[in-house]
Amino acid sequence: MLNHGTRWKRPTRKALHDRTPGIARTAPGMVLITLATALAACGGAESTPADIASRPVRAVATTSIVADLVSRVGGPRVQLTTLMGPGVDPHLYRASEGDVRRMAEADIVFYTGHHLEGRMSRVLEVMGTTSSTPTVAVAEGIPPDQLLSPPAFQGAVDPHIWMDVSLWRSALHQVEDALISLDPSSAEGYRARAEAFDIQLQTLDSYVRERVATLSPDRRVLITAHDAFNYFGRAYGFEVRGLQGISTIAEAGAGDVRELATLVADHHIPALFVETSVSPRNIEAVRAAVRARGFEVRIGGNLYSDALGGVGSGADSYEGMIRHNVDTIVDALEGYD
Ligand SMILES: [Zn+2]
Repeated sequence: MLNHGTRWKRPTRKALHDRTPGIARTAPGMVLITLATALAACGGAESTPADIASRPVRAVATTSIVADLVSRVGGPRVQLTTLMGPGVDPHLYRASEGDVRRMAEADIVFYTGHHLEGRMSRVLEVMGTTSSTPTVAVAEGIPPDQLLSPPAFQGAVDPHIWMDVSLWRSALHQVEDALISLDPSSAEGYRARAEAFDIQLQTLDSYVRERVATLSPDRRVLITAHDAFNYFGRAYGFEVRGLQGISTIAEAGAGDVRELATLVADHHIPALFVETSVSPRNIEAVRAAVRARGFEVRIGGNLYSDALGGVGSGADSYEGMIRHNVDTIVDALEGYD
């Protein structure tokens, strides 16, 4: 029998957007009704490990980044459904009724947690408390002393842990443990794939450190549309400033734009970065405000923050995304006199 819901902590804190002034609370009534109906339809049909051993494991992952991890560990044993595709912003994403049915029919659901999927929090909480399906929040198994909670986030934990490759290695082992608990007869395969991917992640971490080491420390200032890069900054020695804070839900104010523009102009920071899952509008506003202060700042390129890239982008895997990001950052920040 699986030990549902004791190994992984579920979100108990109110969603960030619930505490954000001027932001309407999500009204997920219809999807919750759909969830209740779908769970009732699945009632009593809980799969045993023996059932699961005879067919592929049906897994659902919320973001493309979590899905990459699950597919690397699950390999051919897992039939994976990903709810959010390339370029989709998880802070703003609302579960459709179809998503809810897919979660209700799954053997296991993987998500990031710490309210990254802010507008799905209610659905994930209901899944966690009323369903026998295990729900695994990969960021919530990271030891608290390794998590960041900057003062501006009002006590909320920064959920963007994948930006530090060593933390993503911890998430990898949670996925491994969860799949082994669900499907013990395939444990050997899960362990072998997790070990192989862990070695690749160690190589990736070394690659990031080598690239960053080529950049002099005074050039390691990273300015992006929203605060997705705090873990990257801590792990690899960058000062990080995001315009929109921890989530894309809160709009950047004119004061934030002015403050950042002054910082860029005063310190002659050469490049700002846009993100594929966030509108470039605010970063363009900072650029214009910097220009008005007599300094020209470039857009250093597109970073992948909360979603992988599409097929052919070179960033359609976690490894590709991290390599693209560090290459883009280092190339843009070193390329000036
Ligand atoms: Zn984000």
